[in-house]
Amino acid sequence: MTKRGSILIQQPLYVATMDEDQREFGGGHIFIEEGMIQSVGPEPLDRPADTVVDASNAVVLPGFVNTHHHLFQTLTRNIPKMQEAPLFDWLTNHYELWRELTEEGVYTSALTGLLELMKSGVSTSSDHLYLFPAQAGTRLIDAEIRAAQELGIRFHPTRGSMSLGKSKGGLPPDDLVQTEDKIQEDTERLVKAYHDPSPGGMVRLALAPCSPFSVTPELMRLSAKYAQENLLQLHTHLAETIDEEQFCLTTFGQRPAEYVESFGWVKEYSWFAHSIHLNDIEIASLGSAEAGISHCPSSNMRLGSGIARIKELLHAGAKVSLAVDGSASNDSSNMLAEIRNAVLLSRLRDGSKWLTAREALHMATTGGAEVLGRDDIGRLAPGMRADVALFSLDGIEYAGARSDPLAALVFTVRMKPVDFLIIDGIFRVQQGDVRFDEESLIRKHNRLSQDMLERAYDRTGIDFSMPSARDKLATE
Ligand SMILES: [Zn+2]
Repeated sequence: MTKRGSILIQQPLYVATMDEDQREFGGGHIFIEEGMIQSVGPEPLDRPADTVVDASNAVVLPGFVNTHHHLFQTLTRNIPKMQEAPLFDWLTNHYELWRELTEEGVYTSALTGLLELMKSGVSTSSDHLYLFPAQAGTRLIDAEIRAAQELGIRFHPTRGSMSLGKSKGGLPPDDLVQTEDKIQEDTERLVKAYHDPSPGGMVRLALAPCSPFSVTPELMRLSAKYAQENLLQLHTHLAETIDEEQFCLTTFGQRPAEYVESFGWVKEYSWFAHSIHLNDIEIASLGSAEAGISHCPSSNMRLGSGIARIKELLHAGAKVSLAVDGSASNDSSNMLAEIRNAVLLSRLRDGSKWLTAREALHMATTGGAEVLGRDDIGRLAPGMRADVALFSLDGIEYAGARSDPLAALVFTVRMKPVDFLIIDGIFRVQQGDVRFDEESLIRKHNRLSQDMLERAYDRTGIDFSMPSARDKLATE
């Protein structure tokens, strides 16, 4: 399973390289050795390999890159009380649940969310963990890195943080925020322990104060300084809702984008989740800085947050990627679904703002790599790390859709996992099989989720389940 032998992908039905020339072709080959793509082209290759994959029924793409997630939220998907709540209500209620998070919960939810991503073709993911309840210990980011390493996925965890509690005018409860010193200390420890900036690096850290309404200006300043001095990336939520805009105008006298810009955050090494409520000047500024954007269409629809102006951001020069966002507002970690939703949501705008299937796929591959500051993934070209996804088109959902095999992945709803997923030259999904004890993981995940709901209910009296479901689960 973890052997890095040579791989020959032979005679694919269709290849989208996402390279500089946007080459697409049918037939030919992709040859992988020592974790890297050695050659790719429409001509057949007669060369021995440790593993030969017959791809005659498959579309081959670079592995997808997911740039924004809160993996811990897979423990609290689909909570009845929050199904119809907009962002601020949704957050305030979830804080009561999330304060029950444990290290075991972080580890298990990371396994679950990352496996889900991999099953939809993701080879690189970021995560934004910003909640550090006192009882959960101090090794939460470590726990999710452990999960990513076990699965073999390329991982960009961010050291999330909240420092502005309710008593100081913030949204989160005081006991869920940390001091700037504590955040800084843990960030330094994590960077030292895990950050690997070398080519092909499997773990890279970034700094991620959570949002304008949960973070002090001082933390924004400190993070920008530390990132610049240590060549790290910066990440945060930006311009997600009108509530946030109102909060920033009232509290800081600035719009959210002005606020982050005032701390020197609008840079090519920063990336911003959502970025919906931006005016023309802000779009131009993010664009000329070549800042990164995580477009999260499913979450934006789920919370009624709005439609991001993606076409304008692309036109302005911003780097745009796609992201599933946390599982309490999506509620799936399915990248193909996200790509499809990005296209469909854009169709609610005027015709000049529509996204094509290829534009969305580009965002999900090359766009994501650029946003995460990587030039070694996101394309199928010689010298790139071998992160490759193969989706066969033999399912009933593709019957009649082969006139454009690539767009078939976007316009139809796939009913099964990716067939093959290669990460850094190693098969992580083979014949649709993740080779992981999913059954035990699901059982454990459900138990931990149920424990959180029960503890929160006992403490607050707030029922986070449908009452009949709670009674049934309590007897299991
Ligand atoms: Zn988010």
